[in-house]
Amino acid sequence: MTATDARFEKLRSLGVIDFHFDLPMELYAKRGSPGIFAKSFLPELEAGNISIFVAAVYIEDRYLPDKASEVAREQIARLVAEAELSKKAAICRSYREIEAARGAGEIAILISMEGAEPIGQDLERLGEFYKLGRRLIGLTHARPNAAAHGGVFAPSGSSPEGLTDFGRDLVKECERLGIIIDLAHINPAGFEEIISMTKRTPIVSHSNARRFYDIERNMSDAQIKMIGERGGVIGANSILVSSRKGESTLDRYVDHIEHIAGLIGINGVGIGFDFFEFLYVQWSSDEQRELAAKLAEPQFIPDLKNHSHAPNLVRKLIERGFSDGDIEKILFGNWDRILRELL
Ligand SMILES: [Zn+2]
Repeated sequence: MTATDARFEKLRSLGVIDFHFDLPMELYAKRGSPGIFAKSFLPELEAGNISIFVAAVYIEDRYLPDKASEVAREQIARLVAEAELSKKAAICRSYREIEAARGAGEIAILISMEGAEPIGQDLERLGEFYKLGRRLIGLTHARPNAAAHGGVFAPSGSSPEGLTDFGRDLVKECERLGIIIDLAHINPAGFEEIISMTKRTPIVSHSNARRFYDIERNMSDAQIKMIGERGGVIGANSILVSSRKGESTLDRYVDHIEHIAGLIGINGVGIGFDFFEFLYVQWSSDEQRELAAKLAEPQFIPDLKNHSHAPNLVRKLIERGFSDGDIEKILFGNWDRILRELL
């Protein structure tokens, strides 16, 4: 084994924390096939040595508004059941539970919610979903809802308004209950408002730098610095790397990581892969066109499309000159620090 191979093996064995995975909607869609997680996802997670991931509940437009809450509950129920069936993964609600799961050789799964639609306009539901194990929430996806407005997939154009009154109450209640607020997706006005309202360390689970892909959905240098100043972490996103196919490469993904680290230091950047191709390939061409019209055509990185590709990132970070300590922080240490502090 060469020295580089030994170094790669060592870094790869440390594990990866992925702060955004759209798994629950897929488990809900395939609820007639128990065991789908163990069969279709676990092998890739194991091949990539993923230690912890955040599974985000997302409600498709067709269930809005009336069925949002029910579908969210069912997505969580499927996630819980599938983790249990696999015997290799566990839903975790605290840092202690994460440590226990990892000690037992299991993948730790945290539950998040991408968009507050399942809460509707009823704050009590925030507590109900907390009881079901959800520990994180992003107020919006791209579409507006009762709490806030989403950032658009263009350089400008979202609402100039920040949170609604309900959104402000929601943020306060999250702070009180200890629910981690995720700043991915929210529009610039809402982003600033949440930063100014909250005291806890801010996080952005899956967003990139506008420097390389200038859409509101990503983050300006000023926004990146607001996270850095408070000791927060931003997860680099594999599907928002560039608007152009040829530029959606592993090197450009690392450019985003490098840019964020350059602005706020290596302690401010982690991973939020947002792997999405497994959903996209199941859609009809009409549905794919609808996504391109509404948001953007996703450009997948050929060698970073699913969790089994995580070792490719390890190799690339070595090739790009990151130190062992830096690589450990990007892949694992920074998110681990946040979880220890906030959960
Ligand atoms: Zn997202």
